[in-house]
Amino acid sequence: MNDELYYRPSGGVPLMGTLITMVVGCLGGAVLSVIYALINHYNPFIYFTIIATGLFGAGCGVCTVFGLTLGKVRNRGTNALAGLFVGIFALYLSWVWYLFLISREAMGQGFFLFDTRAMFGFMQLLAETGIWEMFGVAPTGIALYLIWVLEALIVVVPSAFIAWAADTPFCEPCHRWTEEKECLVAFRLPEDLSQLQESLEAGDFAPLFELSMKNIEPACLNAKIHRCDGCDESTWLELEVAQLFVDDDGEMKSTKTPFLTYLHLPRVEAEALLALTPDNARIDNDEEEIPEESEGTPIVASPENQEGGETNREEIS
Ligand SMILES: [Zn+2]
Repeated sequence: MNDELYYRPSGGVPLMGTLITMVVGCLGGAVLSVIYALINHYNPFIYFTIIATGLFGAGCGVCTVFGLTLGKVRNRGTNALAGLFVGIFALYLSWVWYLFLISREAMGQGFFLFDTRAMFGFMQLLAETGIWEMFGVAPTGIALYLIWVLEALIVVVPSAFIAWAADTPFCEPCHRWTEEKECLVAFRLPEDLSQLQESLEAGDFAPLFELSMKNIEPACLNAKIHRCDGCDESTWLELEVAQLFVDDDGEMKSTKTPFLTYLHLPRVEAEALLALTPDNARIDNDEEEIPEESEGTPIVASPENQEGGETNREEIS
């Protein structure tokens, strides 16, 4: 793989942008912390609380991504640190709110404990007696501390990860983010993926066009173009292997595995790929189409995928 052909973030960390990221991320995290503390205190269903904890962490990550997009930060290390910081800050605030709700219930008057030492003192008191029951048992002491540590991880790790994973290509000359456009057609999964990669890296995009098809198959390639609206230089191709399957509830799902991430693409090829529609896809799929009996896009199995296709067809209809 030739690294120079792929987009790499410049690592740019503008001072103002970092400030914007922190302010936006922490403001979002602060709002989420109130909601989370209320759920934590009033909701009796432990499973719902666990889901809420994960969503709280993910929400902090999303707020951070929003901030770093506004602030034009293009450094994944900084992104991860920002997500981590926002997660910790929001978790801290959720504890402030939570202890306020508990003290108000127990003493009739709520206390805002912003000082971490006072906070830990209160938490120690709670750990001695326990505050809630799980399966008829109220965890205390070490067990409760461990639950709190786990809770903190469920908030902070997703927040940092989501911020780290944000990797939209940035056009340095125009100083703007690229826009993402999805190709209207899917591409047949070739037998030899590495050979396709070699051709594309050599600047020969014809093999990809030849794989375009009218329908989707249980396994296919999906293409996205990331392009700058200000110039023709920053245009990048993203290819994912999509695998369609029917889950236990009979719903159609897909798993996506990155194949090529942000390969430099000449603008003409990008325009041609985006202009492809199921009507002008280059391969004529002669297989019969499923009549419109299901809501989703019909899946037509290719001969080599006939078995998988058959199962899917039965499950979907
Ligand atoms: Zn540009």
